[in-house]
This record gives sequence, structure tokens and C-alpha cells, in this order.
Amino acid sequence: MRSLDAFAAGKLAELDQRHQRRTLVPTARLDGAWLERGGRRLVSFSCNDYLNFASHPQVKAAAIRAVEQHGAGAGASRLVTGNHPLIEELEARLARLKGTEAACVFGSGYLANLGIIPVLVGRDGLVIVDELAHNCINAGAQMAPGRALTFRHNDLSHLREILAAERGNYTHVLVVTDGVFSMDGDLAPLKAMGELCAEYDAWLMSDDAHGIGVIGGGRGSVHVGEGAAAVPLQMGTLSKAIGSYGAYLCASKPVIDLMKTRSRTLVYSTGLPPAAIGAAIEALNIIESEPELIARPVEKARRFTRALNMAPAESPIVPIILGAETRALEAQRVLAEAGYLVSAIRPPTVPAGTSRLRFAFSAAIEDADIDAVAALLREKIL
Ligand SMILES: *Cc1c(COP(=O)(O)O)cnc(C)c1O
Repeated sequence: MRSLDAFAAGKLAELDQRHQRRTLVPTARLDGAWLERGGRRLVSFSCNDYLNFASHPQVKAAAIRAVEQHGAGAGASRLVTGNHPLIEELEARLARLKGTEAACVFGSGYLANLGIIPVLVGRDGLVIVDELAHNCINAGAQMAPGRALTFRHNDLSHLREILAAERGNYTHVLVVTDGVFSMDGDLAPLKAMGELCAEYDAWLMSDDAHGIGVIGGGRGSVHVGEGAAAVPLQMGTLSKAIGSYGAYLCASKPVIDLMKTRSRTLVYSTGLPPAAIGAAIEALNIIESEPELIARPVEKARRFTRALNMAPAESPIVPIILGAETRALEAQRVLAEAGYLVSAIRPPTVPAGTSRLRFAFSAAIEDADIDAVAALLREKIL
């Protein structure tokens, strides 16, 4: 298969030339904000485990109990024999947290968006997506038989323009946005978006991968500020602040019942392993009982934005946009040398010319490390 290897090598060479090749680095995550890479211990500013639940003793114990009671794997699709009792317990807990009638758990955030969007956007449907929304939202929109459009990032007048021009041409319209933008850390204006969508009878879906557990009192971006935004489809993941793996959609009972019978990534994929579900339930127990813990990641992020005279962080994510790929990679190297892991994020994850350091603050990061990193940035990078 010489042509196959030549194809792969050619693609890799192109990526190398653009400084866009990525490689996997073995990384052992230790307690709190620590990890080990290449024989060195580093403080991580790159884990989405905002509440450090992945190494929390109670969460780990819950995962172990789940394995002992229910086994290592689910054994089949949830519609066959993989629907172990912990999954339904978790769905009830998620619906309660989000204030919806029902919830449906999926294999991962990526699988959830691939599964949900095509169920709602048929041949006569339109899906409109924020231009900076996560890759898997666009992938879900591509898998749907209807038409897909994008609107400018957080630009409600552009969204209104599209709705005004296109609403009449489609039976149903779905609007999808990140609640917290994964590479920028800003929030979608969900309250105003909810009103706009209601005006045009468009269905609004938020992806709250980076919101649940850390903003809106732990209930996520729909619950930031007074009252809840009108978002009938609240999707999110169990893989970030929840510290585990998997994802969910919280919505009305008819919508959830439809997902459970029609969503291809639920129907044709194995149920989540009991350990992941047991861990997620315990994480929710802690989120609901420790308000000072859930406030900490955003407080840490704000300490950092204050130190750099930036606008106050709205979430635990703060980007430092540097432009060229090489600049972001060099900044990553300088910080790693000082003992800090901060990932350089490059195209196509972010638009061309906006390579950046993406800081993700977890509750366990020490204030002294935040101050030291801010000083390093000022002295050597900015
Ligand atoms: C991480 C992320 C996902 C994917 O979730 P996984 O559970 O990691 O597959 C989806 N949407 C957004 C906004 C994310 O940041």
C-alpha cells in the first residue's frame, strides 16, 4: 500500500509546513492542578476538569462502587440491554439541575451533537449556528439533511437578519450556540437570543460544555443572572467540570422521548460505562452542596484578567491571542520551561491568524501560580 503511506506522509508534510501538525504527548494527571509530562511535574492551565473532580476522592470512590455493582461496561446500546439503573438516576438529576422535564445521556459531547441536531433538522429544516461554535455542532449540522447557515459570533442583529429572510422558507428552524465559547471564554447572550428565537418560532439549543458546574450557580449559562433564559434545548457534557465522560440533553419530555428513539448516536452506540455515570452523579452531589467550590474557577480566572488589565473573565476560560502559530508555540514553550502547562491553540480549532494560549482555570490552581504566570506573560510574551 505504498500510495496509502505516501498520501499520509504528504498530508503530514503540508501540516508541518504550516506549523499545524499536532501530536499526542503521554500525560499523567496527578492530584489537583498537577500533571506529569516528559518526566516533569507541571501545573496545568489546560485541563477542563475545572473542579478537579477527576481526582476527587468521593468521585473516584463512586466510580469504583459503580463498577462493583454494575460492571465495567454497559454491554449494549441503551435500547437493548445497556440502560443500567445509574443512567436513569443521572438523567433525573440533570433534569432537576437544569429545570427541565427530562434529560437524555449520550456517549460524549461530540456524539450528542452529532445525534441531536439531525433529529431536529429534517429536509425541510434550517439550522443556524454561531460561527465560533464548537466543531461538533457544525459536524451535527452537516449530518442533518436540512440547510445549514452561520451567523456572526454573538451578533444578534445578524441572526435576526437571517431569521427575517429565511424563516418563511423552512418548516422548522434550529439555532445552536455554545453557552460558553470553548476557545474564547465569552458567553452567548442567551436571554436575548431566547426572546429573538421565540419571536420567529425558532428552537434554541445551547451547548454548555464549559458552563455546567462553574457558572449560573453551577446550573450553567442558561441560569446566569436573574431568572432563566428561554432555551428549550440545553445540551452539555459530563467531561469538563463534571470530571467524568459523557454528555446530556435536557429538554421537555416529548423531545427527550424522540431523542431516545431516533438519535442515531444513542440508538447505534453502546451505553456509557457505569463508572462514568457513577462519578457524574457524585460530582452533581458536590456541585449542589458546595457553592464556594463552584465559584472558585471563575474567581481564579478573574485574578488573572485583573493582573493583566483585561476585561473580567466571564467563565474559567481566558484566551491570550498571539496571532501566528509560531508565536503561540513559543509562548507555550516558555511557560512550560517555568513549570506551567498552557496549550497553544492553532487553526483549524480557531480562525487563521488567531493562534493563542488558552488558559483554563481549575479550583485547585494556587493564586501564587496565577500571579507568576501573569508576570511571565508580561515580561516575556506580550
Ligand atoms: C468539549 C466540547 C464538546 C465535546 O465534548 P466531549 O464530551 O469532550 O466529546 C462539545 N461542545 C463544546 C462546546 C465543547 O467544548
